Amino acid sequence: MLFSFTIRAETLIKGEIIAGGILIIKTLPNSIVKLDDNIVPISDNGYGLIGFERKPKNIQKLEIVSPTNQTEEITLNIKNRSYKIQKIDGLEKEKVEPPQELLDRIYNEKIRVKKSRNEANSLKTPYYLNGFVMPVKGPITGVYGSQRILNGVPKSPHYGLDIALPTGHNIKAPMDGVIIFTDNDLFYSGGTIIIAHGQGLSTSYLHLSKILVEKNQNVRKGDIIGKVGATGRVTGAHLHWGVEWMGKRLDPEYLIKLFD
Ligand SMILES: [Zn+2]
Repeated sequence: MLFSFTIRAETLIKGEIIAGGILIIKTLPNSIVKLDDNIVPISDNGYGLIGFERKPKNIQKLEIVSPTNQTEEITLNIKNRSYKIQKIDGLEKEKVEPPQELLDRIYNEKIRVKKSRNEANSLKTPYYLNGFVMPVKGPITGVYGSQRILNGVPKSPHYGLDIALPTGHNIKAPMDGVIIFTDNDLFYSGGTIIIAHGQGLSTSYLHLSKILVEKNQNVRKGDIIGKVGATGRVTGAHLHWGVEWMGKRLDPEYLIKLFD
């Protein structure tokens, strides 16, 4: 034979390569995919997700090893963003500078949420492949990434989308998934639900007035999971919607765009 061809792994990518963004990749089933040497979960039919945090490393390496041991390397140049400064006044003082006696409670809640998110990372089924609907529709009053100054005190950035709606407004599951966390009364986030959608993707719903699902329950895209409220650290009724992938907090706007 005159030529010997190397058959390369064939990888398709959809999504914007940007801070807070999310990509879906499709490759050959049984490929091994790594992002900067960390394993990216891949479904039996070859799908996987990749997300970028608020201030990501600008160049990341995607490595795909096919079932026949061919290696494909893709360099991802991640676009930076500048974020707004958001000032919110009129919050309850203890919600901004909690007194000593509340710190244990806040710490324990944080650990419980983190544990649940780790469960999301081990859920292999790509539930998100069944499609997407908006959890609610309404005016956006807070965007992802903003540097926040609460009652004049600089705080951590805002990792989600705030959508203002009256207390009692229905919230839908945006994708199929499994409920991995519910609590009626977290210190900062009030009534809270987290749904895992497979392969490290999870979405969270904060400040709820009512929770209509239970931990370990399966939900379908469009199911009503709870109701908008004004619980936790808020100045008024709204839904805070968060998106995570493998412990990185993403911008919900890019999840919406992924399904456009
Ligand atoms: Zn928020």
